[in-house]
Amino acid sequence: MPAPRQISHYINGRTETLPGGRYGDVYNPATGEISGKVILAGVTEVQDAIAAAQAAYPSWAATPPLKRARILFNFKHLLDQHADQLAEIITAEHGKVLSDAKGEVTRGIEVVEFACGAPHLLKGEYSENVGGGIDTYSIRQSLGVCAGITPFNFPMMVGMWMFPMAVACGNTFVWKPSERDPSASLLIADLFKKAGLPDGVLNVVHGDKEAVDVLLTDPRVQAVSFVGSTPIAHYIYSTAAAHGKRVQALAGAKNHMVVMPDADLDQAVDALMGAAYGSAGERCMAISVAVAVGDVGDRLMKKLKPRVETLKIGPGTDPQSEMGPLITREHLQKVLSYVDLGVKEGAQLLVDGRGYKSKHQGYESGFYMGGCLFDHVKPDMRIYKEEIFGPVLCVVRTETFDQAARLINDHEFGNGTAIFTRDGDAARTFVNQIRVGMVGVNVPIPVPIAYHTFGGWKNSAFGAHGVHGPEGVNFYTRLKTVTSRWPTGIREGAEFVMPTMK
Ligand code: NAD
Repeated sequence: MPAPRQISHYINGRTETLPGGRYGDVYNPATGEISGKVILAGVTEVQDAIAAAQAAYPSWAATPPLKRARILFNFKHLLDQHADQLAEIITAEHGKVLSDAKGEVTRGIEVVEFACGAPHLLKGEYSENVGGGIDTYSIRQSLGVCAGITPFNFPMMVGMWMFPMAVACGNTFVWKPSERDPSASLLIADLFKKAGLPDGVLNVVHGDKEAVDVLLTDPRVQAVSFVGSTPIAHYIYSTAAAHGKRVQALAGAKNHMVVMPDADLDQAVDALMGAAYGSAGERCMAISVAVAVGDVGDRLMKKLKPRVETLKIGPGTDPQSEMGPLITREHLQKVLSYVDLGVKEGAQLLVDGRGYKSKHQGYESGFYMGGCLFDHVKPDMRIYKEEIFGPVLCVVRTETFDQAARLINDHEFGNGTAIFTRDGDAARTFVNQIRVGMVGVNVPIPVPIAYHTFGGWKNSAFGAHGVHGPEGVNFYTRLKTVTSRWPTGIREGAEFVMPTMK
């Protein structure tokens, strides 16, 4: 077995291989082996990265937006050329199947494509002659050094929700990826440099709470973007805001898919299989609850159960695999313990994936489990209320559409939801009344395209702004409004009253 690689920071355009300090283990979840040792930054390394970003800021902010965009065009081209390599790195450290990793890479590149259009989006507004000889205009200016802290489940895409928009708007950036699958970030930073990005504009530091706390409190950091679990998102939001920073903190989820009695059941079952078990359920937009309305429950379960039983599980590199392993042994144990809990709580476990053993030679110690399917789950059960983040689908039965909608509206989380129906009236009512940030109509995972904004409601997001799309530009810029008058328009004498239009 080869010795684990050392995974280092990327500061001021260079890979930093500082000896000593703390390390974290990075696994290949498909085999269960340690594949890398990631350096966990202390205060000094994070401060170095912030200093590099601070030093690069004035000249980057002064670079004309079109010149910045040209570098983004080059970056997109290089990402396209390295898409397969990026997907392989993601699969090796995260475990998701290669085709899914390729999808993640594509969705990440789409944000770069959107960011290439930033010059147009940064244009301000101008009103001539708002009063006698007075003109008013607004300009969008960059913030300075921004930071991004990202989760393990999309080691490329979630980072790409943040820094391409941030730098397109004239900011510089420090990215702290998940310490569990850190390697994709380094190739990405290197490709951005090759595209022409000046040193210090994008820096990558690896680490845990110790590194994050520096980003949340250092006065040079102006804005913090976070994506991860709800307790940490709340901590990030409150700590960074208390230190005067602009914050967006996207958090956990429990996404419901309503299946109406008139739905095309084959389509609904296909949708549930991909959305509940794809990426082993480790997606913030995964469907973890199916709400079967009226008499559809028994018909739905009859079609769904055999599909879950025959799910193809294996290493992400095997093109036959539909579902790979979970990220770590610890997370696998957590998900399995939720299945135990569901049984104790009295839900009916129709498909039990707890005893799954890999039949692939050399992969026996990987972090695998089988898909699990619970029926007759009740709203007061913890398996319904809490985010499990694994391949476990809970089915709740309701008699009416109104009961289904109320369940979703009363739930703590509000990231994504979907309805499967042929009834336009029901779909329209659902879209109108549901208290969730992203809604699908016959679309199980309604992740918005890059030029629209992604973001949840309730305990799925803290802070006013979602990511990418118009909200991405708003988050990474601040508005300055200028009112100007030239001598010919100036009346004589001091005015002591509130200026009004005469
Ligand atoms: P996590 O909250 O454990 O970690 C996220 C980031 O926070 C990592 O970079 C980690 O190093 C850092 N972190 C962890 N503990 C910390 C602490 N105590 N103080 C400061 N920083 C800390 O999340 P995860 O397990 O990596 O990712 C899965 C979670 O992310 C799920 O809850 C999922 O729903 C959520 N997620 C949400 C979205 C969304 O858009 N809403 C998208 C993807 C993932």
